[in-house]
Amino acid sequence: MTTPLLEAQNLMRRYWMRRGAFGKATEVRAVDGVSLSLERGKTLGLVGESGCGKSTTGRLVLGLETPDAGTVAFQGAPMPAPGTAPWRAQRARMQMVFQDPLGALDRRLTIGVQVREPLDIHGIGDAAAREKRVLHLLHATGLRPEQAERYPHELSGGQRQRAVLARALATDPALLVCDEPISALDVSIQAQVMNLLVKLQREFGTAILFISHDLRAVRQVSHRVAVMYLGRIVEEGEPDDVLHSPAHPYSQALVSAIPHPGRGGQRILLQGDPPNPADRPSGCAFHPRCPVAFARCSQESPALTARPDGRLVACHLAHEPAIARAA
Ligand code: SF4
Repeated sequence: MTTPLLEAQNLMRRYWMRRGAFGKATEVRAVDGVSLSLERGKTLGLVGESGCGKSTTGRLVLGLETPDAGTVAFQGAPMPAPGTAPWRAQRARMQMVFQDPLGALDRRLTIGVQVREPLDIHGIGDAAAREKRVLHLLHATGLRPEQAERYPHELSGGQRQRAVLARALATDPALLVCDEPISALDVSIQAQVMNLLVKLQREFGTAILFISHDLRAVRQVSHRVAVMYLGRIVEEGEPDDVLHSPAHPYSQALVSAIPHPGRGGQRILLQGDPPNPADRPSGCAFHPRCPVAFARCSQESPALTARPDGRLVACHLAHEPAIARAA
């Protein structure tokens, strides 16, 4: 068995939230026992509603936040302590792409300077090699050489996200964490950036942790999909399995919300809003909204367990045929 590029075990991240100046501090479990594994050159899609902990998970695996518990191994070795030389070397092999390309770029610097910046920081190549690399990255991401002289505000949103990707790939990272990389873009541009991501993965062999609330986008790029709800993974499997026959009631509701002409089945309308993470429901956190909840659900939290088909599902009904119905 080959060692995964990235392996996170039981990650836990807690915050303390105080209601009012004199209110009692309440524990918020943003990430609550998340484990995930990512192979070299593959994409794991992490999907869920806003606030479910998927972005925090991305920051934890990159070492941008320190977990309260759990471990992260990259290329088979534990993450070095933040701020050390080994950590900096490791970070060059792991890059992040954020949602807002304008916010991620420095408005005062040209695109060429910003794409070259990681090479300067990590001392990769001489001046000529860096220039050559910048031109290659611009070409690979669909930007023209003369756009190296432009400033971020002189580019369109899609071009800015291409520039962000070019910069992220400068150090030839083994892992890209893309956090909602298309949600700030026009719908017409989103498909182009998604296709570009797939092309870049083929060309550079980069593994991608693709974080999104958009199940369709996740399906387009992912080799495996994990669905998160309130800080936990509730289902993980092959994209076609999760999209065609979601096993967890929450995944079923997400899939049923995707417009699909010609597909049978009704939209599953969940009751209420996602619960406040500071006031986590007892038992299965999904039980107040779950259409098939029963008495045990409010008392006992279901573990994420493997089904015979290889799917991981956290639901007391995970092995019941009735729960395997397609949405
Ligand atoms: Fe619904 Fe119960 Fe399964 Fe939770 S454990 S998803 S409440 S059926």
